[in-house]
Amino acid sequence: MSFKEVTFKGKYIVNFDIELKTGLHIGTAGNTLDIGGVDNPVIKDAFGRPYIPGSSLKGKLRSLMEFYHDKINVNNLVYSVKKEQRRDSIVMHMCGEEDCPVCNLFGRNHGEHDVIVNDEGNSRKVDFSEVVMPTRLIVRDALLDEKSITDEMKENMDLEFTEVKFENNLDRITSAANPRQTERVPAGARFNASMVVTVYDEDGNKYVKELITALKLLQDDYLGGQGSRGYGQVAIKNIKISFRDIEYYKGQSKEEKLVANADSLDKINL
Ligand SMILES: [Zn+2]
Repeated sequence: MSFKEVTFKGKYIVNFDIELKTGLHIGTAGNTLDIGGVDNPVIKDAFGRPYIPGSSLKGKLRSLMEFYHDKINVNNLVYSVKKEQRRDSIVMHMCGEEDCPVCNLFGRNHGEHDVIVNDEGNSRKVDFSEVVMPTRLIVRDALLDEKSITDEMKENMDLEFTEVKFENNLDRITSAANPRQTERVPAGARFNASMVVTVYDEDGNKYVKELITALKLLQDDYLGGQGSRGYGQVAIKNIKISFRDIEYYKGQSKEEKLVANADSLDKINL
């Protein structure tokens, strides 16, 4: 095992709002009955407010960039769960290429991975330790801006911060409708998102630019569940990016450098 030498250069702090264009459903792992008695509840913080977990957001951005960079192919995919624990196995990209923009921004996990080697899904063990380095992208949980839930919106809501929709699934044999409740955060709600991109060596602004691309792709995709039913369309607004160099952290410079301040992603020029 060898370690790559890396030099820390600074951090980009990327703050923005995620505004919902359509209702958002990010479920809880258990999918159990909520305290409010709704089937299929959305994930909420300790204060009962819906939020977007950083891990969900990061996973979505990663998958969009895996497709964008054409990284979804045999020998480039791993099972995200070890073979023994595998039931609903999720396949994701991970590789050992030193210049991979996806792995370098979103990270590689330590240890052995089951890399898929053919169309049948057979795998072989590979260890990427040689190229593992600290993950550049940190994604914080995006918290609900309560002010974004207006009185007008509340009139059409079923619970304090959410609405409950009935979605019909039609049984193809009996034609019986099987209505199912889904809790969702209504269109118009806003979340405050915060991300950090660490800069090493000669990175410059390469990876913060990659993040902007990922966010643009997200606007034309969806967040959370039931995207094919129109859920989870978002707009990225009020983006503020600043750079804190090593002098900032040493306390020798109190100024962070404002790199971008724009109301939409299209207006960002890095
Ligand atoms: Zn990769």
